[in-house]
Amino acid sequence: MEKQQRVTDVVDRVAMHLDADYLVYGAGAMGMAFVDALLKEKPVKVVMVDRHSQPGGHWNDAYPYVRLHQPSRWYGVNSRILERTDDELELASRSEILAYYEAVMDNMISSGSVQFFPMCSAGDVRSHTFHSLVEPSKTYEVHARAKVVDATYMSVEVPSISDPRQAGRFKVDEGVELVPLNDLTKCGYARQRYVVIGAGKTGMDAVLWLLRNSVDPDRIHWVMPRDSWIVKREVFRISDFLNVVDVMGALDASTSSKTIEEYCLGLEKSGYLTRLDENVQPSQYKCATVSDDEIQQLRRIEHIIRLGRVSHLKKDRIELQKGVVEMAEGALYVDCSTDALATRPSVPVYQGGHITLQSVAVCQQVFSAALLGFVETIDGSDDEKNGLCRPVPHPDVPEDMARCEMQTQLNYMAWTKNAKIAKWIKQSRLWGILKPETAMSWRQTLTFMMKNVHNLSKLKTAEADQLANLTRLAKFGGS
Ligand SMILES: Cc1cc2nc3c(=O)[nH]c(=O)nc-3n(C[C@H](O)[C@H](O)[C@H](O)COP(=O)(O)OP(=O)(O)OC[C@H]3O[C@@H](n4cnc5c(N)ncnc54)[C@H](O)[C@@H]3O)c2cc1C
Repeated sequence: MEKQQRVTDVVDRVAMHLDADYLVYGAGAMGMAFVDALLKEKPVKVVMVDRHSQPGGHWNDAYPYVRLHQPSRWYGVNSRILERTDDELELASRSEILAYYEAVMDNMISSGSVQFFPMCSAGDVRSHTFHSLVEPSKTYEVHARAKVVDATYMSVEVPSISDPRQAGRFKVDEGVELVPLNDLTKCGYARQRYVVIGAGKTGMDAVLWLLRNSVDPDRIHWVMPRDSWIVKREVFRISDFLNVVDVMGALDASTSSKTIEEYCLGLEKSGYLTRLDENVQPSQYKCATVSDDEIQQLRRIEHIIRLGRVSHLKKDRIELQKGVVEMAEGALYVDCSTDALATRPSVPVYQGGHITLQSVAVCQQVFSAALLGFVETIDGSDDEKNGLCRPVPHPDVPEDMARCEMQTQLNYMAWTKNAKIAKWIKQSRLWGILKPETAMSWRQTLTFMMKNVHNLSKLKTAEADQLANLTRLAKFGGS
C-alpha cells in the first residue's frame, strides 16, 4: 500500500498561544484526580490535553461490559461522588464512569479554571506545545511558566488499542479469527470453541462474560501463562471486614512469614487472597480482584492451558512457549494478552517545572494522583515533596506485594507525620481502602479489641513488626 502522507507534513502551522499555570497531558483517571485536588486548594489556570475526544482515559477504549474492579466509593475525584447506592461493593460500569468524568470536566470548565483540548497530542509530554489530531493547522503553545504535568506515564494499554500481531506478542495465521475482548459482544453467532488468551483481570472478565451469557464451560479454553494471587473483593466491605478477614491471621502472615510464598499462603488462609486452583502456586500478583461468586464461576473452566505465552495461532493449533495444543478450526480467539497496567520505572514525581504522576500507594492510582495534587500546593522543596511521595510501581509478581506494601506503609507514616496531609487524607473520599482499620466504626474497633484482649502486646508493635518483616521479604524475598 502506498504510504499515506500526513496532512500535518504539508500545512503551515502557526501556534496559538495559551496562558496557564499548569499544562496537564492526559485527562484520564489520574489527570482528573490531580487537577480536581489542585483546584480545591489553589485558584490556578489549567490547560488539559488528551488524545481522546472526551475525558476518562482508558475507559474510552475499554470493553463495554467492564466495571470497576474496586468499589465506586473510592474511585474518581475527591470533589464528586461516583457511587449511586450505599452498597460498599458497588462497581460502576464503563458508561457510568465516562458520564462521571464528563460531568467532572464540565464543572471544571464552567468554573473558568480549566481549558480542555480533546483530540490533541503532545509529541513530547515534557514540552509546552501540542497539536490537534484532526486539524493540521492547529498547534498550541502554552506559556513557559506553566508547570507540565505528565498524566500519561502509566501508559495504560488495553487490548482494543494493542493488536498482538502489531505489538509482536504472537503470530496469527490467515483464517484464524482473533478479536479483542471488546468485540465478544459483536461476535454475531455461536462458536464451537472460545479460546481466551490471557489470565489477568481482563481474561477473567472475558471468561465471566461468556459464562454469564450461558456459554457451556466445556466450550471455553483459557490460556493461562501465569496463575494469579487475587484479592477477594469482599475485603472491601469495611462494615463486614472482621467477618471476612481473620485480622490476627493476616497480621501473623505479615509479621512472621519467612518467605513470600508463606506470606501469600498466610493471607489466603486469613481470607484476604484467593486463587483459581489450590494446587498451583501463583507467580503473578497485579491486584486483580474477584468476588467469591466470580471465583466459583471461574473454577468451572476445566480446559486451562498452562504452557506459557502464545507464540503462534495456527488454523488447527496453538503454539505456546512450552508446548502445542491442538484446536479444531473455527475457534474464536479472544485477546486479553496486553499488560494494561505494566510496572513502570519509578521517577521522582516533582522535578522543577515537571510533575510525573505515579502511584504512591499500592494499586491506588486515583488516590495517589489526588494526593500529589494536594502536596503540590503545600510549602516545601521538590526534595521534601518527593520524600513524602515515593512511587509505588504497579506490582507484577508476588514479591512485589511485600515491596509495594512496605513502600506504601513508609509513605503513610510520612503523611501522618505531616499535619496538613494527615488532615487532607481524613477527608479524602478516595482514601479508605488502604487501611481498612482506619475506616472502621468505633463499634467494630471495640469488638475487635475485646476479642483480642490477650493479643494487645502483639497489636501494639504490629506496625513496626510488619514493616520490619515486609522490608526483609522485599529485599531478600525471604531468603
Ligand atoms: C480494566 C481496568 C479496570 C480498572 N479498575 C480500577 C478500579 O476499580 N479502581 C482503581 O482504583 N483503579 C482501577 N484501574 C486503574 C485506573 O483506572 C487507571 O488505569 C489508572 O489510574 C491509570 O490511569 P491514568 O489516568 O494514568 O491512565 P489513562 O486512563 O490511560 O489516561 C491517560 C490519558 O493520557 C492520554 N495521552 C497519552 N499520551 C498522550 C499524549 N502524548 N498527548 C495527549 N494525551 C495523551 C491518553 O489518551 C489517555 O486518555 C483499572 C484499570 C483497568 C485497565
